[in-house]
This record gives sequence, C-alpha cells and structure tokens, in this order.
Amino acid sequence: MLLMRRDPDTSGRFDGYAIGKFTGPTMIVSLPLISGQCRTGVTPAPAPHDTPRLIDSHGRAIRDLRLSITDRCNFRCVYCLDPDTRFMPHDRVMTIDEIERLARLCVSLGVEKIRLTGGEPTVRNDLDEIITRVSQVGAKDLALTTNGSRCDANSLRRWRDAGLSRITFSIDSLRPDRFAAMTRAKVSVETVVEAIEAASRVDFDGPVKVNAVVVRGWNDDEVADLAGLARRYGIEMRFIEFMPLDASRAWDESRLVPAAEIVERIHARFPLVAAGRVEASATSLDYVFADGTPGRVGMIAPVTRPFCGECSRLRITADAKVRPCLFSLDEWDLRPLLRGGAGDDEIARFMVDATWTKQRGHGIRSGDFRQPERTMSAIGG
Ligand code: SAM
Ligand code: SF4
Repeated sequence: MLLMRRDPDTSGRFDGYAIGKFTGPTMIVSLPLISGQCRTGVTPAPAPHDTPRLIDSHGRAIRDLRLSITDRCNFRCVYCLDPDTRFMPHDRVMTIDEIERLARLCVSLGVEKIRLTGGEPTVRNDLDEIITRVSQVGAKDLALTTNGSRCDANSLRRWRDAGLSRITFSIDSLRPDRFAAMTRAKVSVETVVEAIEAASRVDFDGPVKVNAVVVRGWNDDEVADLAGLARRYGIEMRFIEFMPLDASRAWDESRLVPAAEIVERIHARFPLVAAGRVEASATSLDYVFADGTPGRVGMIAPVTRPFCGECSRLRITADAKVRPCLFSLDEWDLRPLLRGGAGDDEIARFMVDATWTKQRGHGIRSGDFRQPERTMSAIGG
C-alpha cells in the first residue's frame, strides 16, 4: 500500500503572489553551511512494492527525467561553478549507448518527459546523435537546457529535425560587462541573445524558455529588463531563486531574492496578471502581461515556495548516479550495472528501489540542512 501523504508546506498548491502587496525583503537569516557528504550507496534497499513504475515512498510518481550528459561547461557562472573546477575523467561519463539505454528503461517505468542537461550539453560533439536516439525511446517530450553559447539557427533547426521538442536557455544579464562577470566566460551576451532570437523562429513543439538565476547584488536590479526579453521575442522568461548548490558555497539568505520581490519589480514596469501553473508538478508559477503583449514570465521559487509535494522529477548524473532529489545526500550508482553486464530487468529494479528513497523535501530552510557536495552543474539542472 503506497503512502499518499502530502506535506502542506511543500504541496506546491500556491496560486500566485498578491501583486502590489509586497512589502520588502523577507527577514534575512544567515544559515551556517555544513558541508554535505554525498554517500554513494551500493544498492538501495528493496522498495516494498512490485509495481514496474518509478514511485517514491511519499506517493509521488516520476514522470520527468533530467538526464545529464556531461559535467563539463565552458562557463563558470558565479552561482554554479568555481573558476578552477576540475571535471570528471571522460571514461566516467556515460556513453551514448548508456544514455539511450537508461532513457528507454525510464520510459518503460513511467517517464514521459526527458530533459538533456549538464554541465553544458552542447559541449558534447555527439549531441546530434544523442538527440536522435533519445527522441526515439518513446517519451512524449524531449527538451534541452543550454547556456546558448554554442547554438545558432542551423544547429537549432538540426536538433528540432532530429527530434528535440523544446529548448530552454539561461541568461542572467543583458549587460555585456555584467554578463562577462557572472559567466566568467569569453562568450558575448549578443551570442546568447541571438541564439534565443533564432530559437523563437524555429518551430519547436513548445515555447522557448529562458532561465535567469537572480542573485542579490549581482542582477536583481535587472529583472524587468530580462522580462522585456519575453515581450520582445514572445517567449517565457523564468526567474529562479538562487539555491545552495554553488561550488563556492557562498549561498546565504542575504543573496536570495524572493520570487515575490521579483514579481513586484517586474510588475512596476510591465503590469502582470497571474496565470497559475501549467500543471501541478510544474516548477514555475506563471504570469502574462496585462497589456496582452505575447510572452510570459515565470517564477521558480524552490526556497520561498517549495514545490516538493508535487515533484515528479528524477535525475541521473553524467556518471550514471541516480539522484532522487536535487538535494539528495544519497545517490545510487548505476555504472557497475551498466558496465558489468546487468540485464534490463536488474537495472529497472535498481531504478525502482532508488526512486523509493526520494526524500520528502529539500529542507533548505531547516536547521539541519546540508548542502550536497555536487554543484548544480555536476547534478544536472
Ligand atoms: N549549462 C546549462 C545552462 O546553464 O542552462 C544547463 C545546466 S545548468 C546547471 C541548468 C540550470 O541550473 C540553469 O538555468 C542554471 O541557471 C541553473 N542553476 C545553476 N546553479 C544554480 C543555483 N545555485 N541556483 C539556482 N539555479 C541554478
Ligand atoms: Fe555552466 Fe550552466 Fe553551471 Fe553556468 S549554470 S556554469 S552554464 S552548467
């Protein structure tokens, strides 16, 4: 019998911020960061059910797979990677056959949507073939998240033709000097804006989305300008609260810009109307423009409005570790099975058992929160 409990604090059933009611930043509390030690479990304990589905012990079904295809990246975003980050050896990273096999198995276990991510997925030179093969495993939707530095109209059309349904970009500033300071890369902001513009002209199945992580003191004064991108290209601009997944462990609540404040700042320039969530498990709470201009903005507020209660996501890292939660301290290593000749049934059972261990919530604001050792780039955002 499955437990169908929903924690009211993390239910995700929050309908929107009361526009015009924001009274200032939330209380700023500094939490001590205790370095989290990720334990890599050999084998998860058997889940107490025989259903060939990815279901956790809190009654949540997994339908979204975040599949990281590399931990490498050509950017060093301030909220993600350190300048001197060292990446894993190539032979630890999943091969294209392993990626395709896991994607297919996950679909057989109930996954409907797959997102290819990283690190920066476009640094893999077999990305075209990965898209082609993963698009044929039977998922309803195949998406890609990218920093936009290695995309142009040709590659975007090629990926769409190979089976990519949707694309999400990341851009945190439109100001050249600030973009350079935040990404610590030599890529110009125009390159990324041009890629976003090109994508808005490619006929993907779903809307082009663009993510910005908002960090107080870095880019919080720019959220309305970034929302302007949504209006200019008719896309979805999504603002993500900074999470404690950065390599430098500089996260604290004084750096966090609550989504309610972001909504207020945008609303002051471009009046907004709340549009709710696309589906219960969606990470983003959406708004449309009151003047009817096409485009949307979305708030992803894992810290101030956790949506763990409706979470349908599971992650597999580039080195084939199952991470039931972004903030898991336990991860389950599929590599010995993948490279040791295990059959599909054995790997599927392992996935079912690992999923059962998914924690109820991230607990970022709880006193005993421990930051995982892996950064967002090494997990797969
Ligand atoms: N490199 C690609 C990119 O940047 O879009 C894909 C991988 S990146 C890890 C996926 C998403 O995670 C990006 O939108 C990025 O902005 C976000 N991200 C990274 N570190 C984060 C953090 N500490 N808090 C919130 N979001 C973060
Ligand atoms: Fe690279 Fe994406 Fe992390 Fe930026 S957020 S350092 S682009 S993986």
